[in-house]
Amino acid sequence: MQCCDLTNKVAIITGASRGIGEAIAIQLSKCNANLILTARNAEGLDAVKDSINAHGGHAHAILSDVSIMSSLTKLAANTIDKFGRIDILVNNAGITHDNIIMRMKEKDWDSVLNINLKGCFNGIKSVTRPMIKNKGGRIINITSIIGQIGNAGQSNYAASKAGIIGLTKSMAKELGSRNITVNAVAPGYISTDMTNNLSDDLIEKMKSSIPLGRLGAPNDVANL
Ligand code: NAP
Repeated sequence: MQCCDLTNKVAIITGASRGIGEAIAIQLSKCNANLILTARNAEGLDAVKDSINAHGGHAHAILSDVSIMSSLTKLAANTIDKFGRIDILVNNAGITHDNIIMRMKEKDWDSVLNINLKGCFNGIKSVTRPMIKNKGGRIINITSIIGQIGNAGQSNYAASKAGIIGLTKSMAKELGSRNITVNAVAPGYISTDMTNNLSDDLIEKMKSSIPLGRLGAPNDVANL
């Protein structure tokens, strides 16, 4: 799919080492953006970077943990050192630690909220100043349909994704006057490592509730 021309624009994509983040990185590269790809582990991240660059793209990989503010502050500083600007932030990194509330450990609540929700806060806080200096920017937060409808066994994930929706609406109101748009994308079930360990029964049940009769693909989100 063709998208707009992002020549000379700089995009940071969190969780870019696989799944939806990888597809978003490839799509932004097709639009000619300079990319900073980040995740905690180098293995997948370097492979995505190498593949994008082998196809004529401009991607750099920097490891970070979105749940740690100093890690994202450093990531933003490194991006400015390399390119002098930040135009786009895609807050995509996310995890699940599912369980019913009676069995959910406090650490599983905390890690999901810290990565999914606080990770978006950390990302936004790290890029806001450079974007204001640039007189504009685009922030895209990946939330989930589960943040809108809830799901048994996913209270931590649903709370984190509902929180992202509130964060997005507030940031859009706060930063709109600075020409920084803040939007959220709420995918349904997408076939990635995150959903690949679900039982066949559950996947069949999900498919029956989806008009197209199939799970989404990472590209369905990236194209958006
Ligand atoms: P995935 O395949 O599991 O990929 C998750 C990515 O996030 C990986 O690159 C992972 O790399 C990175 N990540 C995880 N924790 C991180 C951290 N603390 N700091 C930096 N990076 C971190 O997941 P996905 O399915 O592509 O999901 C991507 C986003 O879409 C998530 O926010 C998810 O909630 C959302 N979403 C997914 C679906 C779905 O059905 N798949 C539906 C709706 C929304 P490392 O492990 O190396 O850090």
